[in-house]
Amino acid sequence: MMADAPQAIDYDIIIAGGGMIGTSFALALAPLGLRMAVVEAVARAAAKQPSFDERSTALSRSSQRMFTAMGLWDDIEAAATPIRSIHVSEKGRFGFAHIDADEQGVEALGYVVINRVLGGVLQAALDQQENIDVLCPARISAVKSDDEKSVVCVDQGGSNRELSCRLLVAADGERSSVRDMLGISATCSDYGQHAVVGNVLPEKAPANRAYERFTESGPLAMLPIANGRAAFVWSVQSSEVENILALDDASFTAKLQEGFGLRLGRFSKVGARAAYPLGLSKANGLVVRRGVLIGNAAHGLHPVAAQGFNLGLRDVAALSDCIADTRINGGVDPGSAAVLEDYASWRRADQGKLVHFTDGIVRLFGSRIPAVRTLRNIGMLGFDLIPGVRTLFAKHTMGLAGKLPRLSRGVPLT
Ligand SMILES: Cc1cc2nc3c(=O)[nH]c(=O)nc-3n(C[C@H](O)[C@H](O)[C@H](O)COP(=O)(O)OP(=O)(O)OC[C@H]3O[C@@H](n4cnc5c(N)ncnc54)[C@H](O)[C@@H]3O)c2cc1C
Repeated sequence: MMADAPQAIDYDIIIAGGGMIGTSFALALAPLGLRMAVVEAVARAAAKQPSFDERSTALSRSSQRMFTAMGLWDDIEAAATPIRSIHVSEKGRFGFAHIDADEQGVEALGYVVINRVLGGVLQAALDQQENIDVLCPARISAVKSDDEKSVVCVDQGGSNRELSCRLLVAADGERSSVRDMLGISATCSDYGQHAVVGNVLPEKAPANRAYERFTESGPLAMLPIANGRAAFVWSVQSSEVENILALDDASFTAKLQEGFGLRLGRFSKVGARAAYPLGLSKANGLVVRRGVLIGNAAHGLHPVAAQGFNLGLRDVAALSDCIADTRINGGVDPGSAAVLEDYASWRRADQGKLVHFTDGIVRLFGSRIPAVRTLRNIGMLGFDLIPGVRTLFAKHTMGLAGKLPRLSRGVPLT
């Protein structure tokens, strides 16, 4: 429910950040009937909304199952494009690899959806929830925690007020200030790259195939979207990004074509472009007294493997599971030390693995050492020729590896 001013000052859970992950978490937990508030800094209609913007996101199978279990998939699917195969190659080299949905026995490996469209579905569902207050635009500016509660200072329209909760969930993104306020540090590094994103009309429709091409400047992904168009995510050196964004449509299209090649024929009708700085971040802890991190506040990945949001949704599913379990067992406190420890020990391995995996790909394909280049071509060929390797990789890509929480398996929380 959108609220001009909060209806109550004491909540079970306050969620800092109403972006892709904060909104998903509020909706995942809604069936438990807890009293929640979502505090989001940027107005929904703002052109610069940082989460629900014009980017395209590839949703994994586990994310699709999760939205199905939450009763939201039909609305998302109406605007999503299935990915039935993935083709990986390196510019100027002989090796390539592919993964196919039929071979994996699934209808689709994943789905592409525009963030703004996903946001429309999630926010409409949030507005239907009687037990959730949405404070937007409003910013969390200070946090105090003790054994019983967290108290947050919320700045809404220039006036400050205090709200308290039994659990404060930081879902305020990679540069999370709430993470800092909770006293959790993070290790961050800069790849020296920006992702330039937009969409283009290729001569040949992508036909439900996603492409990942490694170029000299960095990885270039082409994702199938509606009307025969393709959404690109192109990693370029940060020193070049301003010049690339300044190119007119024809010059930009020619440069993109040079990077991607002619696999989809000639490109035309390129849309507006935007750029995002790329870094790696990992929080040095996931929980403190009455506080927890989820999504990019816990881990920010390079988009090379399209895993950041999917990984964050598994945080959402696991934390929801831990809170639901305590209620099933008669517990009433969603922020107890036991709940938070369960969550932290469950999520460490998956998060650590994905951080190393995406960082490893960026470094492996960024290397110009000839021996490394040869090895990765052989690696790609081996990957393509050995079906068992493909299946294992596909399982990870689809978010189906390891111990999965209820929602990620498609099982409703209650
Ligand atoms: C170019 C690019 C392509 C990507 N493609 C994919 C993909 O294909 N698949 C995939 O899985 N992932 C992808 N990702 C990653 C994905 O976008 C992120 O993982 C996801 O956006 C994280 O969501 P979040 O809600 O945690 O953080 P964010 O999206 O950063 O949202 C944080 C929210 O918190 C709000 N906020 C900040 N501070 C405060 C405060 N103090 N008080 C209140 N609110 C606050 C912000 O306004 C924002 O709305 C991509 C990322 C990039 C950059």
